Amino acid sequence: MQLVFLGAPGVGKGTQAECVAAELGITKISTGDLLRAGVAGKTRLGLEAKHYMDRGDLVPDNVVIGLVDEKIGSLECQNGFILDGFPRTVPQADSLSDILRKRQLVLDRVIYFVMPREAVIKRLTGRRSCPQCSAVYHIDYRPSKRDGLCAVCGAALVQRNDDKKETVELRLAVYEEQTSPLIAYYRKHHVLAELDGMGSVDDVQARLLALLPTS
Ligand code: AMP
Repeated sequence: MQLVFLGAPGVGKGTQAECVAAELGITKISTGDLLRAGVAGKTRLGLEAKHYMDRGDLVPDNVVIGLVDEKIGSLECQNGFILDGFPRTVPQADSLSDILRKRQLVLDRVIYFVMPREAVIKRLTGRRSCPQCSAVYHIDYRPSKRDGLCAVCGAALVQRNDDKKETVELRLAVYEEQTSPLIAYYRKHHVLAELDGMGSVDDVQARLLALLPTS
């Protein structure tokens, strides 16, 4: 199964991609995670991406398209995958079609996460992340049981640079301008399904699974 999770930053795509990928035995591909790993490892690509990411802008298409192409071709994606945070522009969506076509794959569904803007801002600015193991928390909705520390590995939790209020506003503007046209793009291709992103992780997951093709 090949899926795309589409929606504004902060709507819960990453969390759901994690759960649903585990449930279906397929691989989550998060371009944000791949880029952050490059930044942490100080790779050439990571260093190039860092300043775009810190200010809330998109990394150039050619960088992320190359990453996704390589990942889709890897053994771990053999049974299928969920793309989380890709595509984010129309050229990326066109490239994804080419990448799938050359491997004789089809896009089974694009799940579009819908959520009011105020809820998205609250989710992003309250998010805290573990710099060591990438676990994600929220000061109100999912606080760590170990105050300020990661419950998994004990590292001190941080607020991602791009989750600060000013950067969040910019990321949402970038989403509106460059990514939201993909809603119409995929609706035209008859693969889009709308998902209400509000509610608990379990409730959203149940609604999401009901939107997937059965075979
Ligand atoms: P995310 O974790 O998906 O919110 O991504 C964090 C940041 O990584 C974004 O704000 C962008 O700077 C960059 N990024 C992630 N995915 C893409 C993409 N498909 N195209 C361009 N930039 C991306």
